[in-house]
Amino acid sequence: MAESFSSRLSKEFTLKRLSFWIFWFGSHIFLFIYGFFLQKDDRSLDNLNVIGFSVWTSRGAGLCLAYDGALILLPVLRNIIKYLRALSYLNKLIPFDENLWFHRQTAYAMLFFTLVHTLAHYINFWKLEQLGKFPAWQIHYTTWAGLTGHAMLLIMVLMYTSAHYKMRHQSFETFWYTHHLAFFFMLCLYFHGHGCFVKTAEGVCKGYLSYRFTLAGGILYFFERVLREIRARQPTQITKVIDHPSKAIEIQFDKPSFRYKAGQYLFLNVPAISTWQWHPFTITSAPDDPYVSIHVRQVGDFTNQLGELLGCDPNNFNNSNYDTKRSVPVILPTLRIDGPYGAPAEDVFKNEIVVLIGCGIGVTPFASILKNIWHQQQNKGLSKLKRVEFFWICRDTGSFEWFQSLLKTLEATQMEAGFLKFHIYLTSKLRESTINNIIINDVSGSYDPLTDLESRTHYGRPNFGYIFSQLNRAIDSGRYLPGKEGDLNTNVGVYYCGPPALAKSLKKDCDAANTESIKFHFHKEHF
Ligand SMILES: Cc1cc2nc3c(=O)[nH]c(=O)nc-3n(C[C@H](O)[C@H](O)[C@H](O)COP(=O)(O)OP(=O)(O)OC[C@H]3O[C@@H](n4cnc5c(N)ncnc54)[C@H](O)[C@@H]3O)c2cc1C
Repeated sequence: MAESFSSRLSKEFTLKRLSFWIFWFGSHIFLFIYGFFLQKDDRSLDNLNVIGFSVWTSRGAGLCLAYDGALILLPVLRNIIKYLRALSYLNKLIPFDENLWFHRQTAYAMLFFTLVHTLAHYINFWKLEQLGKFPAWQIHYTTWAGLTGHAMLLIMVLMYTSAHYKMRHQSFETFWYTHHLAFFFMLCLYFHGHGCFVKTAEGVCKGYLSYRFTLAGGILYFFERVLREIRARQPTQITKVIDHPSKAIEIQFDKPSFRYKAGQYLFLNVPAISTWQWHPFTITSAPDDPYVSIHVRQVGDFTNQLGELLGCDPNNFNNSNYDTKRSVPVILPTLRIDGPYGAPAEDVFKNEIVVLIGCGIGVTPFASILKNIWHQQQNKGLSKLKRVEFFWICRDTGSFEWFQSLLKTLEATQMEAGFLKFHIYLTSKLRESTINNIIINDVSGSYDPLTDLESRTHYGRPNFGYIFSQLNRAIDSGRYLPGKEGDLNTNVGVYYCGPPALAKSLKKDCDAANTESIKFHFHKEHF
């Protein structure tokens, strides 16, 4: 028990994480103490210092809030992050793909210091009234600080409650629209110090003038939104729509101004459905393809309405008319595309050995990677990549058809034996008729009856702990990648896209498989 606790502790507190938390808590504690004593030790502010501890506390917390207000928008500057994450040395130091996690940490810190700041101010106002200086209601409702402070509190209640994990998953639109109240929140933040609450008896303002810092994030974010708008307005034309089984639609479109890398994603807006909703989808085509494609699984309001507009009704899907001409609407909807944006899968080509793991529609980032590999093979310009282990875990057999032709082509055109291995897993129970069909077709057949690939389908869930340890042994013995045995260090990139629960256990399996000379580096993405 004690051992597992200590090993858990050591994993939780890796050097990188520990450094972040020391920096994060340290900077807040430092600013709080600095603000506290800046007020306490300033003799020219003795007119306010008569209030005592609460005014020093409100000032300390106020400085922390200025700091968080300056940081809160930085992690949502998608375009700047896209360029920064491409700088490998910086990306190793700062995990840019965790931008939304950092956004949340800043929001939690803001919540904490808002509570401290507000409580301390309520005490200040009450004490000022007791001292016969101002009536508390006057400060609350007639000053800039009071009015903007209360408006920010109200906005925070709405934003924080709608951003809760459960709320976001139940009604993403509620979260999305409510989060746009951030515009008014930032405006209030900029004007919070207007009128200057902290001044000397002679009327000299001694506030932090924190708008000078918080405004920078706001201005950058404004330009970010303008850029998104300009890019989204570039001409885009749907060229093909394919209605796949298991509620997936493939949309191919032409956007001449669109440049991307394999593994990246974009934001899609369809004005015929909503002017404001932008939904992220991974690009499934490769940069050398003559079109850009995405695969959309119909799971909710937006994706179902999109299906309807494109003439793909999952209830009327019939395998017999798969990929044949169907009743496609005469007028196809206008698409607005923003992006591309970087995702972990983009870095696959920086590895020698990679393990790609996609669950269901989570295969999309790897479809683009696999296509790119095919193009690179054709152009004989293959990157550093030497071995690719591709795992696709699906619940139903219909999903295999989404990328069947791509996988078949790749399997048939491999230039080096063992370069790319497919491991397809089917996790749902099969119907009796399907089992009979498999038995009949599998007898001495050289192709898998379900996927039509040479690689056989596995039934059930993969045991990644075992798979990684076997891979480790094969690399170590030199059987896996001949010529590699002499090397002291081998890095295996494990890229995963699927449900968070499996991500956790995969991370553990990667850690467990690590040895002195062979390291498994885990990268995750989830929809
Ligand atoms: C980086 C990324 C890449 C993705 N790539 C693909 C892909 O290639 N193919 C695919 O089918 N799906 C992909 N998704 C998921 C896709 O964005 C959602 O399925 C889609 O937005 C659902 O919208 P809806 O209104 O139809 O469903 P809803 O029922 O409203 O939502 C279903 C789920 O999607 C989430 N969601 C809804 N709207 C958004 C939004 N605007 N932004 C983020 N999450 C949202 C909700 O939290 C919920 O969990 C991706 C998601 C992310 C974050």
